[in-house]
Amino acid sequence: MPPTKTHSRKGNKRKFTGNQYTKRKTSASADASVPEDKNTELSDDEEHVEGEKFESFNSLSASQRKLDTKSDDSSDESDGMKYADLQGFRIVDMSVLATVLASLRCPSCTKGNVCLEEDEESKMGLASLLILKCTAAKCSYHHSFYTSSKIENKQAFEVNRRAVLAMRNIGVGHQGLVKFTCVMNMLPPMNENSYRDHVQALRNAAEAVAKASMTKAAGEVKEFYEPAEDGLYDIAVSGDGTWRKRGFSSSE
Ligand SMILES: [Zn+2]
Repeated sequence: MPPTKTHSRKGNKRKFTGNQYTKRKTSASADASVPEDKNTELSDDEEHVEGEKFESFNSLSASQRKLDTKSDDSSDESDGMKYADLQGFRIVDMSVLATVLASLRCPSCTKGNVCLEEDEESKMGLASLLILKCTAAKCSYHHSFYTSSKIENKQAFEVNRRAVLAMRNIGVGHQGLVKFTCVMNMLPPMNENSYRDHVQALRNAAEAVAKASMTKAAGEVKEFYEPAEDGLYDIAVSGDGTWRKRGFSSSE
């Protein structure tokens, strides 16, 4: 049995060439014995969203909902308009992407070709920082961008928030996401602390939605019922569980 592939953060810049990356793929094992990602990703601190109300999530079924997003700073807004129909996430084989880009001429010098690199140290959870460079020695063409937009008015990348919501919907926690990325030969996801911050943000959003819903329901009750002499409404309320207020932890 081949050695289990482990997530390594060594080698900050990864250059993608078709053959190299294809070969790496074969080392990915379906073995689920996953090393725990204990790396402290300080850069993930920017994703801390504790206490924020994630207003874009209008309901718990938000995984089906399109999130309002803004373009990454490094992307050209006019280009964003052209590709308005293209949205959502795909799982992309980096070697395929690199091969396609390598067939393009450098937009700066038009002599070299485009070369794709990844700055692994700058990744933010599942959002990778990709860099386009020129193969011509004298050309300084350089274009970097993250592979996800951020949630409107938030620091969190949409891909991370969605991934955490997805894990919770299918009933697994941080380790589930770690295993998924390992078997898929992806880089490891956000660390556990960042994962919890996303859970907290989702929880805040759910509570905000629940309160708004209950306020609306109370308003409707007042329209149809007369209050008792003490000013209270004597109506029956059937309740289902709610989010735990204490001892809350991600689904572990
Ligand atoms: Zn060039």
